[in-house]
Amino acid sequence: MKSLEERIRKDGVVIGDDILKVDSFLNHQIDCQLLEDMAKEWHKEFGDAKVDKILTIEASGIAMASFVAKEYGVPLLFAKKAKTRNLAGDVYTTKVVSFTHSTTYDVMVSKKYLNQGENVLIIDDFLANGEALKGLIDLCKQAGANVVGCGVSIEKGFQAGGDTLRKMGYKVVSLARIKAMNSQNGIEFE
Ligand code: 5GP
Repeated sequence: MKSLEERIRKDGVVIGDDILKVDSFLNHQIDCQLLEDMAKEWHKEFGDAKVDKILTIEASGIAMASFVAKEYGVPLLFAKKAKTRNLAGDVYTTKVVSFTHSTTYDVMVSKKYLNQGENVLIIDDFLANGEALKGLIDLCKQAGANVVGCGVSIEKGFQAGGDTLRKMGYKVVSLARIKAMNSQNGIEFE
């Protein structure tokens, strides 16, 4: 998506070789017009696929996923990062290895809100090694929900996640795909 690539070039900050900060328009301060345009683009890309629910992970995915949910006219569900172990058995949980923090954390959704047979479109801000998306896919599997595909704002194509998920058979639509980046030479898109 041209406008997203231009914005990344203009306002994105590359840290080292593999972290991109987009705090000024996606991850902290948010450009709502851009998010609305992105939601329309995903809607176009996923075409006539039946979507009953949008699923993302807190916190950065929530803003963009809410525009997608509005576009489809369906609910948005976000997986919560679990702070305590839930022993009541009323949630689905999975483990995610954090790319940015190099830790593993539990995420969960209530069994009430993810149901068997629902068609779920997963949305997230970044795709690096694919751990966050794999965690969300696992929650859908536990619930017996169908994954329609994954919409990602920024895929770092030089990391393995996108290829792994596509090989697993999932449709992954990235609105900007970065081929290479570093703080000296900037960003190269595919
Ligand atoms: P993955 O699970 O695919 O390895 O990493 C994706 C998750 O890590 C995203 O949910 C995002 O929060 C975070 N992430 C990965 N790479 C970056 C990055 O370059 N910049 C930012 N801001 N977050 C990232």
